[in-house]
Amino acid sequence: MCPRRWAENAVASLVAIAACSAPERDAGIDRMEFADDEALDDGVADSALEPIPRIRVPLRPKARSGGLERPQLGEFSLPAPRCANQADRDGPSRSLGQVTSGSLHSPCRIALIGPGYVSTNKNGYATDETVALLQWASGQMAAQFPGSPPLVIGALSKADGGPYPPHKSHQSGRDADIGYPLTVRAPPRQFLPATGANLDAERLWTVLEAMLATGRLGFVFMDYELQATLYQGLIDVGYTEAQLDPVFQYPAGPGVPRGLIRHASGHADHFHVRFRCPDSDKPDCVE
Ligand SMILES: [Zn+2]
Repeated sequence: MCPRRWAENAVASLVAIAACSAPERDAGIDRMEFADDEALDDGVADSALEPIPRIRVPLRPKARSGGLERPQLGEFSLPAPRCANQADRDGPSRSLGQVTSGSLHSPCRIALIGPGYVSTNKNGYATDETVALLQWASGQMAAQFPGSPPLVIGALSKADGGPYPPHKSHQSGRDADIGYPLTVRAPPRQFLPATGANLDAERLWTVLEAMLATGRLGFVFMDYELQATLYQGLIDVGYTEAQLDPVFQYPAGPGVPRGLIRHASGHADHFHVRFRCPDSDKPDCVE
């Protein structure tokens, strides 16, 4: 899928993140549930959908059996976001408060179409860093899977942040809902329920791995059974349990506060990524 360096960086980043800040970030997780107000079609049967031909040769490298190297995040420079409202902005974005009670100033509105993604949502506002991460990770997927369908990016935050019912979070520009990459072609700009049979674990991991490697990813909310599919897929291509355990809640159980990839109800047709506070917004941005 990716050069081994990325895989190692991703896992090593998560080990470091999980080790350093899991207790405080766990505090709010159990009461978070998510639902989407974008009426995303869940009534299309897989059998009615066109299969996606495999374009890319799966070539996940075998993970090393030895220890993981520390990530070289200092080498990484995230490309600038492409904001559809760039001309109207007052300056860089600021994420204030918590994801469940915060706000967003001078947001970046994600361009509706970019390399590897389409955005469905008029409330497509977020921090500069969130948009940059989404666009970069989508671009990584597009580069590695030429011709594959774009990621479908759904709800981000409202223009000023704040309450975004029925979401409990999505208030401060650090949350994003993304449709699962599937092995069948979904209707344009819609989320479809993912299953163990139609989840494209390779493309999903490519996206997550890109995000993880930056060290900016705080949480991913993903249906527990889909976690199992992804986890097993990674084991099958050579990852070790020791590498994956800091990343995944699976197989500890859907209620166990472990790992950065967590179960939350309502995440069978999309996954939810939450990025950490941009360094520039601390301490007003609260994790
Ligand atoms: Zn969400």
